[in-house]
Amino acid sequence: MDSAAISPDGLLEMAQMLNVSLTFAQAGQLLRYADILVDWNTRVNLTAITEHNAVISLHFLDSLTVLRALPEQTGTTLLDVGAGAGFPGLALKIARPDLQVTLIDGTAKKIAFCQHVIDSLGLSGVNALHGRAEELAQHATHRERYGVVVARAVAALPTLVEYLLPFARVGGQCISMKASAAESEARDAAVAIRKLGGSLNRIESVVIPGLPDKRALIIVDKTSPTPARYPRSAGAPRNSPLR
Ligand code: SAM
Repeated sequence: MDSAAISPDGLLEMAQMLNVSLTFAQAGQLLRYADILVDWNTRVNLTAITEHNAVISLHFLDSLTVLRALPEQTGTTLLDVGAGAGFPGLALKIARPDLQVTLIDGTAKKIAFCQHVIDSLGLSGVNALHGRAEELAQHATHRERYGVVVARAVAALPTLVEYLLPFARVGGQCISMKASAAESEARDAAVAIRKLGGSLNRIESVVIPGLPDKRALIIVDKTSPTPARYPRSAGAPRNSPLR
C-alpha cells in the first residue's frame, strides 16, 4: 500500500482541478476511506482497483464529478443504486454532508463495507441497505422518494433506467455515470426512458485530470410517475431490457 503518496493537500489540489472545493477535514475523510478500502480489499473482493492512488483517481475523483450536476438545495435526497464499495454515493456524502444519502446494493458484503466506513468516519444522514433495485423500488418507503438517483458501472442504460427511474420523485433526476458511447447508450434507452416516465435532459462530458479516458453523465429528468408494473421482477430488466 502506498498511502503516503497522496496527502490531504494533494487531494485538495486534485479536487480543485475538477472545480470541487473540499475542506482539509473532508480530504482527510476521503483518504481514510481509501485506506479502509485498500485494507478490506486484501480480504474481501470489493473492487478490482486496489492501489491507493488509483483508488483516489478512479473512484473518488470520478465520483466527485457528479457534484456539478446535483441540485444546490440543502438536504437533497440522493439514492445510489448498486453502490458497491460506496461509489459514487458515499464519496458524494463526504463532499456534500448536507445530502441525505441512501446506498443500496444486492451484495451483502459490499453493504457491510459501506456501513463500516459510515461508522468509522462517524457519518450521519446516510443509510446503507442490502437489496435489489427491482424489489426495493416496489416499497412505498423508496418508490418515487428521491430527488436524485445515481449509479456507476451497474448496467447498460436501457436496463439501468428501469432500476433508477422508479425511485426518483416526479421533478427529480437520474444521473448515470458512463464511459464512452454515452450518446449511443442514450439512443438505445430512449424507448425505456419514455415508458418509465423520464425524459433525457442532457449528456455532460467529464474529464478527470490525468486520466485519458472519456466519461459522461447521462442526466434524465423524471417527468411523470412510473407505471406500477415497473420495475419488473428481479432479473427481467437485465435479461429483456425495455425497447
Ligand atoms: N457503483 C460501484 C462502483 O462504481 O464502484 C459498484 C459497481 S459494481 C461493478 C456493480 C454493483 O451493482 C455490484 O455491487 C452489484 O452487486 C450491484 N448491482 C447490480 N445489479 C443490481 C440490482 N439489480 N440491484 C442492486 N444492486 C445491483
